[in-house]
Amino acid sequence: MLSYSELVASQRAYFQTGATRSYEFRKQQLEKLYRLVADNEALILKAVHDDLNKSEMEGFFADVGYIKFEISHTLKHLRKWMRPKRVSSPLTHFGSSSRIYRDPFGVNLIIAPWNYPFLLTITPLIGAIAGGNTAIVKPSELAVHSSALICKLLAGAFPSDYIACIEGGVEETTALLKERYDHIFYTGSGSIGKIIMSAASQHLTPVTLELGGKNPTIVDESANIPLAARRIAWGKLLNAGQTCIAPDYIYVHRSIEQRFREQLRDEMIRLYTANPIENPDFTCIINERHLDRLNSLLEGPTVYHGGEADRQRRMLAPTILTDVSWEHAVMKEEIFGPIAPILPYDSLEEAFRVIQQQEKPLALYLFTENDHVKKRVIRELSFGTGSVNDTLYQFMNPNLPFGGVGGSGSGAYHGVHSYHCFTHQKSVLTQTTQFDLPLRYGKVKGALQII
Ligand code: NAD
Repeated sequence: MLSYSELVASQRAYFQTGATRSYEFRKQQLEKLYRLVADNEALILKAVHDDLNKSEMEGFFADVGYIKFEISHTLKHLRKWMRPKRVSSPLTHFGSSSRIYRDPFGVNLIIAPWNYPFLLTITPLIGAIAGGNTAIVKPSELAVHSSALICKLLAGAFPSDYIACIEGGVEETTALLKERYDHIFYTGSGSIGKIIMSAASQHLTPVTLELGGKNPTIVDESANIPLAARRIAWGKLLNAGQTCIAPDYIYVHRSIEQRFREQLRDEMIRLYTANPIENPDFTCIINERHLDRLNSLLEGPTVYHGGEADRQRRMLAPTILTDVSWEHAVMKEEIFGPIAPILPYDSLEEAFRVIQQQEKPLALYLFTENDHVKKRVIRELSFGTGSVNDTLYQFMNPNLPFGGVGGSGSGAYHGVHSYHCFTHQKSVLTQTTQFDLPLRYGKVKGALQII
């Protein structure tokens, strides 16, 4: 068994052979990764079920389906992405040509969270392979079954000097972070993001941070209320709310607040029945610590719907909170669970002001039929990604860059953006040797010299 520094050195040596750079190599590895996921679909669905009680449908939707789609999309476009891009040059550069080459970073460290254990480990890996890199992958220790399966599958398919997988928690990650990488891709909470950034700074290693935060959802008075309630309930309850881009709190115009609240309750029941805790299709909370944390967030506001918990099954029922204030615990941290606080607002200005006082969110959702409101929200509020009249769907369009801003992260991936995320833009000017411009050397005589 290699030490971490030997492992990193072996990947660096392999990268320096140039083996990972050709289009054919990248294509073969992506095809291998696709087969690995497709052939082991049943095992993957079982692992996410064992870790999170994810139903087959949710597991397929999030942890298998999107990965296969992202690999197919990458395979379809990679050759085109890899072509150097010619850019124009100013007149002062007459005779020269300028191109941008996409250069692999080299050795990457990918650190993943537990909530979508396969999706959030393998999707960045697709970008690393497409970019012509090597990678060390560290899944989350909290998703025990998924972490073991990810490492077993990757170790069976790829040599460790190309792609390696390390299982472990804080101790292992801390040790891994002592090594020098060419790029670190981290998905998880902002507090650990600071540790990652600080470790990376020791080697001036570039980092991509995919973090979380409180995602506002605004429902204005023109919104289609039944549809808004349905799509918000779905986005909130998928994976029991343990989704980085889940709607966190819901700002509803006071004139429709009561109707919206009733509809949201009805949609939550429609999705997971009136007895969700017994529902085999409802995802559980990752561990007891998080269940206790979520339970404590119910204190203060009025529990309008739900609130029941089952400690043995680590289940928390879909819950709606009203009479919520920003002083309540539920508004002071990212919820990351099936709890929906509803806050009424009287004017958009008031909602904007409060949203702007918080960290810039990873996602923002707006439900409206009013084009002016839509334009204002997009223009005036800063957020990583978002949807108008939907939730979560933006994640699944590989043409949209996925990433946060400010406190919710830096850098973005998916589709071509993953390819960009794992490559450096190397710019090269090629100068003519047919003639020279003496003017550039400070000579006034002889503007053009033919060589
Ligand atoms: P986390 O930050 O606790 O852990 C993520 C990873 O960091 C794990 O692999 C873990 O082993 C490692 N880690 C934990 N403590 C560490 C330490 N002290 N030093 C070094 N490494 C350490 O995050 P989590 O609880 O797994 O995930 C939840 C958070 O992640 C939420 O905030 C959520 O919004 C965010 N998230 C963001 C995205 C995104 O794409 N932006 C996706 C999923 C989750």
